[in-house]
Amino acid sequence: MLIAVMEKSASVKDIGAVLRHIEERGLKPYLSRGDEQTQVGCLGAPEEDDLREELAGLDGVSSAFVSKSPFKLASREFRPESSSFKVGPAAVGEKQLTVIAGPCAVESADQLAQVGELLKDLGVPMIRGGAFKPRTSPYDFQGLGEEGLQLLAQARARYGLRVVTECLKPSDVELVAQYSDVIQIGARNMQNFALLQEVGRARIPVLLKRGMMSSLKEFLLSAEYILSQGNEQVALCERGIRTFETMTRNTLDIAAVPVLKRLTHLPVIIDPSHAAGDRELVPALSLAAVAAGADGLIIEVHPKPEEAVSDGPQSMTLPGFRKLYETLKPVAESVGRTL
Ligand code: PEP
Ligand code: MN
Repeated sequence: MLIAVMEKSASVKDIGAVLRHIEERGLKPYLSRGDEQTQVGCLGAPEEDDLREELAGLDGVSSAFVSKSPFKLASREFRPESSSFKVGPAAVGEKQLTVIAGPCAVESADQLAQVGELLKDLGVPMIRGGAFKPRTSPYDFQGLGEEGLQLLAQARARYGLRVVTECLKPSDVELVAQYSDVIQIGARNMQNFALLQEVGRARIPVLLKRGMMSSLKEFLLSAEYILSQGNEQVALCERGIRTFETMTRNTLDIAAVPVLKRLTHLPVIIDPSHAAGDRELVPALSLAAVAAGADGLIIEVHPKPEEAVSDGPQSMTLPGFRKLYETLKPVAESVGRTL
């Protein structure tokens, strides 16, 4: 990717001239506008092209360089400042940590009401819950489908929450988007490229989970699929990867936080529940994630975990989650974040 770095004093007219210059060459410009730094990226320019020098010579351009990063729009080279996006009154990727909590699967109105009450009381802005569940066995509960989405929408209206829920296939994106605020792409679908492109075309925030056997490079290239369709509202979610270790369901790759922060401007959320597979481990992993610089947490919570249709052992009880939430505050503040 060829990147033109604008001077701080560059005017809107200067930026417009750079965009036009790229378009006149039959190429597509991408604008990265930050508070401190504005850059214009250009994809598909042959490296030897003299376009780099032409751009560097335009008014308001301080320099132009070729980025060799395999992920372009996701890279910090393209957007040096961290990106963030709004989800209703909340924002993902800003100083205030994003906390998302709720059951693995939507089961009933009463279940969501109990969780909703607690979240409202704590001031947690977003509820999670799967209406479409990606299950390893075809005989396991597959989710309530559209009825589950309706229950989420009810909880949203009743408790003033925003909804995060998973979409499993491209043809369901429109339906899921109607009822939710953030579409989750699950670990098993991280490389479902048709689904990534479809959520990229939909203008809705996306929580992209890392595949359980995916490298960070593959993870970022999946995010690139969404960004390249024009959807800039993407958050990455590390949820544990498969290793030889059997004492935990997955191994939380805590190093993914600083590595991703170095490589990309996208917000990073940690899911300690699927990483641990055990509710007793969730508080420690949550604190570690916040201390490591994560932008938020997505945590499974259930009013009666022993009766949960999925992921009961890793789901926190309501009092357990309340206690964790209280212990998060000082850790968040110690790294300059608010809760
Ligand atoms: C989930 O969030 O309930 C889920 C299925 O997560 P993952 O895709 O990370 O396994
Ligand atoms: Mn789950």
